[in-house]
Amino acid sequence: MTTVGILGGGQLARMLALAGAPLGLRFLVMDQAADACAAQFVPLLQADYTDEAALAEFARRVDVVTFDFENVPAESAQWLAARVPVFPAPRALAVAQDRIAEKSLFQDLGIATPRFSAVASRADLERALAEIGAPCILKTRRLGYDGKGQFRLATADDADAAWEALGAQAETVGLILEGFVAFERELSVLAVRGRDGAFRTWPLTRNWHAQGILSASLAPAAAPPALVDRAFSHARAIAEELDYVGVFALEMFERGGELLANEMAPRVHNSGHWTIEGAECSQFENHLRAVLGLPLGSCEARGRACMLNWVGDLPDAAAALRIAGLHWHDYGKSPRPGRKVGHATAVAENARGLESQLIALGRALGREDQVGPVLAELD
Ligand code: AMP
Repeated sequence: MTTVGILGGGQLARMLALAGAPLGLRFLVMDQAADACAAQFVPLLQADYTDEAALAEFARRVDVVTFDFENVPAESAQWLAARVPVFPAPRALAVAQDRIAEKSLFQDLGIATPRFSAVASRADLERALAEIGAPCILKTRRLGYDGKGQFRLATADDADAAWEALGAQAETVGLILEGFVAFERELSVLAVRGRDGAFRTWPLTRNWHAQGILSASLAPAAAPPALVDRAFSHARAIAEELDYVGVFALEMFERGGELLANEMAPRVHNSGHWTIEGAECSQFENHLRAVLGLPLGSCEARGRACMLNWVGDLPDAAAALRIAGLHWHDYGKSPRPGRKVGHATAVAENARGLESQLIALGRALGREDQVGPVLAELD
């Protein structure tokens, strides 16, 4: 009997456990919150990630450790790695936790990024602004997610407001100023690398965000083969450099045929939720296969899929369940503004089938605005 330990007990841990059940796996999640949603059906070790006694108990009770949350302190991941196999390795986590380290790695590998500069003080912000120019975005270097810890500057006159919003964090988590990319599309590569170095990618995914939070994903994204190859070879270069094991997502902006890497998530990712029903083997199952040293499954798409995120509160499930081909995911979380509480995935053989499901879904749930951009892409 193999027990997989997951640091973080949110919806990603929940979906990992759901994918692992048919493989006969057991799970233990470690989370600071008693109401972590994975703990509704997975045993929970409730503790702080820095609690050494709890980490020791966790290491004793599991065979392998992975993450649903990349902001676990690097020292805790290292402490565990000295006692039990941890995948992905703490170095990948450390790189992905710091926007400067991450973008520097991309550039070292010849992968283009938006322009960026580290900001440590108010004077530094002026220097970075002069170097990068407006519009631009001031972000926290660490611990930012879902658009949190970001301030957009339309012109250099917004510098005071940006500093007011984020300046206090310059000394704690650090700041980065990034050039604003007027992108045509946001794309992500979902990739998996096994313990033996086997590497696979799911078809390229196109993403739409609202208020910095993923709103919809469409896969496979229509793209010229040369662009797809470039995106995949970027992901492969990163995976090999980090000796990565497991699933990760590489998020990119497409502008004028160019790909600019924004960030990587060292874990299963929201833009890969469509793979549960839309691919031969989901990102969750393949992540488990990878960290356990099992053969990887096929990442082939089963037609076309679109995932819609439910942020803040859940729409009416009964109305959605009437739509054939639609798959419903309720994370069992209480509603809260900006919180991801569930998603739905529509899967069809072709674009026409997907289109009719999405039109029906938009109408049934009053979510025409959310499906609109996806429908425009399918035309
Ligand atoms: P992030 O937390 O870096 O993934 O940012 C969340 C979202 O904000 C991205 O998916 C984009 O929609 C937007 N965004 C972030 N950075 C930039 C940028 N440099 N230029 C344009 N849009 C951005």
